[in-house]
Amino acid sequence: MKGVWGLDESENSIFLSWFLTFGVCLFEENPYGWLGSTRIDYEIGDGSSTSAWFDYWCVNGPLCTSISPREIARAGFTLQDTVADVSIGETWNWPEAWRNLFPVLIHADAIQRNLSVQDQVLWMNGNKLHEFSSSEVWNSIRSREPQVDWVNVVWFSQCIPRHAFLMWLIMRRKLLTQDRILRWGADRRRNMNMMCCLLCYENFDSHEHLFFECKFSAQVWRLVRDKPSMSSVQPKRNLIVEWLSERARSKTAANFICRLIVAASAYIIWQERNNRLFRNHARPPDIVADAIVETIRYKLMGTRFKKTPRVMALLQEWEVQEGCLDDNGG
Ligand SMILES: [Zn+2]
Repeated sequence: MKGVWGLDESENSIFLSWFLTFGVCLFEENPYGWLGSTRIDYEIGDGSSTSAWFDYWCVNGPLCTSISPREIARAGFTLQDTVADVSIGETWNWPEAWRNLFPVLIHADAIQRNLSVQDQVLWMNGNKLHEFSSSEVWNSIRSREPQVDWVNVVWFSQCIPRHAFLMWLIMRRKLLTQDRILRWGADRRRNMNMMCCLLCYENFDSHEHLFFECKFSAQVWRLVRDKPSMSSVQPKRNLIVEWLSERARSKTAANFICRLIVAASAYIIWQERNNRLFRNHARPPDIVADAIVETIRYKLMGTRFKKTPRVMALLQEWEVQEGCLDDNGG
């Protein structure tokens, strides 16, 4: 696949391969391979990496929409032929009779091969052609919604990706908590009657309960919230997120640590819940709190901050001596 598209060294080659594979499914439903007003387009160079029949290099679309595989084979071509295979020098190699049978070929006369360059993959978005890039394609086809007010609480520079992803699931209420399972049906409700929150053994677990209204979670939160100066923030998800949202645009190291510790707390509490559920392994709140603090310490050791006296003092509080280099995290 790499050789075909001539994008060997590019990070886009993987995406392009995926996209073209995905495009095959679309192609079955729509021979033009259209995604609304977007499509992959080709600028012909030497013609060696563009399919003569299936790629969109002619103005009216892929030639296969007009010329059947039977006719292609009857003329001595194969379905694997490239644009280079169907041309000789500056002219096209197909039968003269095809010109009358398939008027679409008249448009091909306007296209000249340039043997000194490779074919180029382009991305058509609306009426504009762009150089193909994964970001260009993604921005064309993704759905867009208004930005949520908690976006900077969850996603921020130098966050811990797996923690951020869990926070995103929590904010979207997508974790498979017991209250969601119970809504699935009466049979599961009977099975779940024996279940309760495995952290406090009271009530079912839910997003609100686990983060952090559960007695266990609240205890963990109270043990970790002092270090990042969040002592006044009560163990309730909406209050914590509200507190962080008000400060999320600030790029101070202190606010960075606050967001880190909330995400780490959620992640490690969810991990503790799953360990109890699936591995029958339980830890007391103080050990869980220690794990959260240690996780943040290790993260701070590898985080790059501006070396300011305030940042250095903050890192000392976290017993992080070095590892703070120049960056805008402070
Ligand atoms: Zn609980």
